[in-house]
Amino acid sequence: MAKLYFHYATMNAGKSTMLLQASYNYRERGMSTMLFVAGHYRKEDAGYISSRIGLESDARLFRDGDDLFAAIAEHHEHASVHCVFIDEAQFLEDAQVWQLARVADRLGIPVMCYGLRTDFQGNLFSGSRALLAIADELREVRTICRCGHKATMVVRLDANGKVARQGEQVAIGKEVYVSLCRKHWEEEMGRWAPEDFIGFAGG
Ligand SMILES: [Zn+2]
Repeated sequence: MAKLYFHYATMNAGKSTMLLQASYNYRERGMSTMLFVAGHYRKEDAGYISSRIGLESDARLFRDGDDLFAAIAEHHEHASVHCVFIDEAQFLEDAQVWQLARVADRLGIPVMCYGLRTDFQGNLFSGSRALLAIADELREVRTICRCGHKATMVVRLDANGKVARQGEQVAIGKEVYVSLCRKHWEEEMGRWAPEDFIGFAGG
């Protein structure tokens, strides 16, 4: 039985590196993979996935309304697909997560999704909500807070290094994202008075 997997984490946990490494492992054994990445915030038509350690691969873009089951089934008819990889899976639509479930269930192809669980305000992304609901396997990709505990949350810093407490779910610009544990996230978001404040400028 092929499965639908969701590897989730905060920012900068190395998800893309894991995805590219896993895809490479398939290809090294003579198998073929299909890679997708969110096209929502990209102008060009050709996509690519890159990681901080220098790995890179071409990828197809997915956007709202795209039928991923149809795209994968069509490709699979001409050339066998052994595994599908989705980067930035938090941007999938609910319907697209179901399409990917059908890729596993009806085509017998495993689907590996990588994405963020929550946004900078601590709310689930749409794709992550659907994946948490119906994926066969949930795997947490670990990264750590500045305090050494597991980071499960993310704050967004603007160009001046100030923590954003409101705003759009996704900002395209000079923002920087920092992964934190929940305790320090609440302090940075102004939801709890810190005892040992070592936070960012302003806030
Ligand atoms: Zn912490």
